[in-house]
Amino acid sequence: MPTLSPHALKAVTHLIARRMGSEDGEAEQVADHLVRANLAGHDSHGVGMLPAYVRLLHAGLLVPNQTSETVLDAGALLVIDARRGYGQRMAADAVRRAIARAKEVGACVLAFRNSSHIGRIGTYAELAAAEGCAFTAFVNVADHHDVQATWGAAEPRLGTNPFCAAVPGADGPAVMLDMATTTIAAGKARVAYNKGVPVADGCLIDADGNPTNDPTGFIRDHTGALRAFGTHKGSGLAVMCEIMASAVAGGQGAFHEAKGGILNSMLATVIDLSKLGDAGKIAGDIQAVKAHVKSARPAPGFDDVLTPGEPERRYAAKRMVDGIEVDDTTWRDIRAAAESIGISGAAFDRVVGANAG
Ligand code: NAD
Repeated sequence: MPTLSPHALKAVTHLIARRMGSEDGEAEQVADHLVRANLAGHDSHGVGMLPAYVRLLHAGLLVPNQTSETVLDAGALLVIDARRGYGQRMAADAVRRAIARAKEVGACVLAFRNSSHIGRIGTYAELAAAEGCAFTAFVNVADHHDVQATWGAAEPRLGTNPFCAAVPGADGPAVMLDMATTTIAAGKARVAYNKGVPVADGCLIDADGNPTNDPTGFIRDHTGALRAFGTHKGSGLAVMCEIMASAVAGGQGAFHEAKGGILNSMLATVIDLSKLGDAGKIAGDIQAVKAHVKSARPAPGFDDVLTPGEPERRYAAKRMVDGIEVDDTTWRDIRAAAESIGISGAAFDRVVGANAG
């Protein structure tokens, strides 16, 4: 299993994105986003997505260097259609516009539609937090076969529909909840399948609706489903993500015909806390909530009580030093995807080697 420096992974991702047709700035954003997802411990949304992106490009379902359409720009309301553009750039650009609008009028509701995969939603919360803004996002996943079985269902009807909420702190979000509404993200089942390991109890059902730990059917044959987290309550949140992102924000829904792409839509809010009230008091109270929660005695089996976002920070600190392990299957798939767009094995190895330090 290769262990790579963030620098080397970023360089090889940049090479692939450039060869896929992205201009330098877009390739840079894609590479930075994917490697930061790996650093945060979310390998499901890191460089392992590249083979899927190359497949989407070949199928005409991902458009590099796309120009978004501003459907509505009216005070605190922004509606932007990304028209299958590269999600990491389209979503970051849209959220930056929403932050700028929140800075003017106090808050912005962003309805962001029909982007190719936007990756780790926390990336956009981090942009908002860096500007002193609170952020929420209801996101759906469409144009893809259904993968999430809602509460009581024996078969899937939704995507992994992530939800994200974050508040600013001194160096990035003070607290950031960023999660799929399935027990695990679909990419985590792919990572388990690639490593040949089972997934945890309660995450998957098989084609008959029975619990299983084996990701093979789900990944290889598209049978079975990921279960919604948190019984009927988590399942309800997944349904609301679908409604907010498709019906309300106007993006493609899981109920529409799928072409085999990965389309994300999102209804996001950005609130400038300095316009809402006394930003210093809000910041102090956020820290007070955090300290209060963390002051609880850890339960048996836990070393520490953590707040959302802490595991990712710890992961990133460790991986910045130790490097990022990429499992053999994922690495082989990335090389094969690179070759399919004309990057020779020698050129691939040269870029990895030249950036190894
Ligand atoms: P996860 O289960 O690893 O973590 C979910 C949340 O729980 C995080 O906020 C994390 O900080 C928090 N957490 C984890 N362990 C904790 C602990 N011990 N104590 C307190 N809090 C803890 O994440 P996930 O659901 O697998 O999602 C992974 C990523 O996938 C996210 O970044 C999400 O945005 C992304 N995603 C994207 C899409 C898409 O279509 N673009 C779809 C699904 C998920």
